[in-house]
Amino acid sequence: MMGDPATPVRLDRFMARANAAYYGTRDPFADFITAPEISQMFGELLGAWVAVTWQGMGAPTPFVLAEAGPGRGTLMADALRLLARVAPACYAAARVHMVETSPRLRDVQAQALAPHADPVAPVWCDAVADLPPGPMILLANEFLDALPIRQFVRTARGWDERSVAGEVFVTAPATDLPADGPPATRDVPEGEVLEICEGALAIARQLGRRLAQGQGAALFIDYGYDGPQWGDTLQALCDGRPAWPLARPGMADLTAHVDFAALGVAARAGGCATWGSVTQGAFLSALGLFARAAQLARNQTPEVARQVSEAAQRLAAPDRMGGLFRVMAMASPGITALPGFEGCSPVAPVASGMEKGG
Ligand code: SAH
Repeated sequence: MMGDPATPVRLDRFMARANAAYYGTRDPFADFITAPEISQMFGELLGAWVAVTWQGMGAPTPFVLAEAGPGRGTLMADALRLLARVAPACYAAARVHMVETSPRLRDVQAQALAPHADPVAPVWCDAVADLPPGPMILLANEFLDALPIRQFVRTARGWDERSVAGEVFVTAPATDLPADGPPATRDVPEGEVLEICEGALAIARQLGRRLAQGQGAALFIDYGYDGPQWGDTLQALCDGRPAWPLARPGMADLTAHVDFAALGVAARAGGCATWGSVTQGAFLSALGLFARAAQLARNQTPEVARQVSEAAQRLAAPDRMGGLFRVMAMASPGITALPGFEGCSPVAPVASGMEKGG
């Protein structure tokens, strides 16, 4: 089994099994709190993002409104409530799809979306690749960080790869380096760790192809870095506290920071444009977080007003989630403006054929 010291398991396979068990059996939100659970403002602002982006796509009717890794379903419920109120045409056009592997969380999400069961009738699927064709807007908050990573260690000769034996790491010379991403394309000092999330890169490449062919945009929000960074970012939360990631697999939430630079390269190789990444603080402020907070606090007790203001600070302050979390959009090359990215210009897709060195 997973904990057998005699048969090392490659880190990504260990992490995949541990997280499938964790999300399948535990209540993740007993261990950590996410932006949509901090405040309804988060999902509402993303709902507004959907409405404006949909207009920019030419208001296609119907369109797929998808969320990957929806947790308790709070983000989508808040977004739909806002759409129903302020953008009824967009609400009516949305065909809601939830990408979720945990049967237990699917039930929780169905309850959260119950007020929208008629007319929205949400549908569940296992993977981003299973989403139906057509115009699409996809949201994903703290989804990519849960996907399994591989860890490579730079040596004088090349690269070692980490596996798990019992509760410790073992390394052996890497035998099958991925051909088209780090570590092949990024070097680090000897002894340092370089991480790669093949699942995230495959999703980015596949979305890149899809958004090049049809109309759409995908928004990824996660903690991570955007640059030629390295280091071991694997972490575990168990019973709400940091824990050794290799102990008690399935009892702890295992995550790793998202490499937005690598994600962007993969998406653009697929054929779409990318926007950002920008910090969550900049993104939410541009979408009107503080105006919404002031509106929610109006005519409330001082205590409620203080809570709303505190939630906005927690989401946007540079030394809190606002600086730790980053936001990247992937979009069809024809889209010329995306809300929340006003300060940035999109990075163009790789022209087809260029990947082959032509
Ligand atoms: N977005 C939510 C929850 C984040 S927790 C929030 O912000 O609150 C991560 C979510 O991703 C959970 O719903 C988990 O079940 C789901 N998940 C993890 N690995 C997955 C995979 N490989 N495919 C689909 N969903 C996955």
